[in-house]
Amino acid sequence: MSDQNNSLVTLEPEREASASAVCNHNVVLTLESTIEELEETRSLELARFASLLDISTTLSSTLNLPRLLEMILHSATRLTNTATSSILLIDERTGSLYFEAASNIPFAAMAPIEVPMEGSIAGWVVENKKPRIVEHVKDEKQFTVAATVDSITSFSTESLLAVPLVAKGKVLGVLEALNKQDGQEFTDEDVETLMMMAGQAAVAIVNARLFEQSDSISELVHELRTPLTALVALSEVLMRPDLKPEKQREFLTTIQEEASRLAKMADGFLELSRLESGRVQFKRAPIDLIEIIHETLSVQGPQAAERGISIELDLPEESPPIVGDEDRLKQVLLNLVSNAIKYNRPDGRIAISVASQNGTARMCVEDTGRGIPPEAIKNLFQRFYRVPDSEGYSTGTGLGLSIAQRIVEEHGGKIWVESKLGEGSRFYVALPLETAEQ
Ligand code: ADP
Repeated sequence: MSDQNNSLVTLEPEREASASAVCNHNVVLTLESTIEELEETRSLELARFASLLDISTTLSSTLNLPRLLEMILHSATRLTNTATSSILLIDERTGSLYFEAASNIPFAAMAPIEVPMEGSIAGWVVENKKPRIVEHVKDEKQFTVAATVDSITSFSTESLLAVPLVAKGKVLGVLEALNKQDGQEFTDEDVETLMMMAGQAAVAIVNARLFEQSDSISELVHELRTPLTALVALSEVLMRPDLKPEKQREFLTTIQEEASRLAKMADGFLELSRLESGRVQFKRAPIDLIEIIHETLSVQGPQAAERGISIELDLPEESPPIVGDEDRLKQVLLNLVSNAIKYNRPDGRIAISVASQNGTARMCVEDTGRGIPPEAIKNLFQRFYRVPDSEGYSTGTGLGLSIAQRIVEEHGGKIWVESKLGEGSRFYVALPLETAEQ
């Protein structure tokens, strides 16, 4: 209480001082304009806080990322008095930036645009982790990307303010406000406003990603439930004293298989999550594809022989030049050959070929198995997907092909399948031909 009184008292001399200054005409003018400025500042502050409050309320009540980003961009454009604003996010896989959302501009043309770090203002902001104002974009010749983006979007970028989107110390992307209106230049307040909006956008993006992650964890739990239920049921039956010894053995074998499937699912899921997170560093060294094929067959040949399956090879004298991660590519081949054995008929055939075609090294693993129904082909590379009734053939996790696809795409390649039900399947992998120097 006494503190408050004190602070009131200390204000009084200032009031007296300003009262005496009123006598001076110039001082009056200065004071008036200062008050006006203050009013303006205050209304900007108020508008800023109102927008922030609006965004934070929505942020805590919805996980609808597009709607949140739309709100943030709308406020960013209005508060900085610009023509448009946009959000670019880093794609961990390519290392480039892509437009995630934009205000006041048709977005469809922007979505596929790749904005490289090199030569773009957004790239500069990511690398330097600080805001950047460019008043005359067309004069800054080192930023060549803006003109390319303009030519695609039919928008003319004149001036630009870009700030980093930072969450937990990591830059996720960039928020940009474009073309300051009414012939004005960007101010410190604009930077501050856009930084605030960027903070909100970063929280919204992190939340949405966490939600996606928890979605994929729910998927895993759902998938684990089936083998777990089987394990519980089987172990209960095993307790029955009247169970015949041969039944006992049969159930124990199933328990062993299901338990090992659970372990494989957990491993496969972790592997896929790591690959999808972009945290895995792929090696880049010259690869001998033919050697990889021979190594795979030395591992899996005995399994094929056990089922009377023959393996034919059609390989060139020399391996086509490709560059990549040998262990990862071996993993792809192991999966394809192991499937060709698992889903083949007894005494069937597998043919493996390699050829250079259209600038790629194309490998094909063909089998004479049960084939894949046409309606299943589009889902085949999705995680946990197994063609219905695959269970009868072999225990699997439905993760091998998703992992293979991820690895092949990480190498800039493609993986696809052709199949005829009842006759067999051909899995193709095409990797770009290149030498280590390239
Ligand atoms: P998994 O074999 O562990 O189930 P994959 O991801 O490797 O997992 O394969 C997914 C599904 O694709 C398999 O469950 C099977 O239904 C189908 N599939 C894969 N390869 C073949 C093949 N060579 N012939 C027939 N079906 C196949």
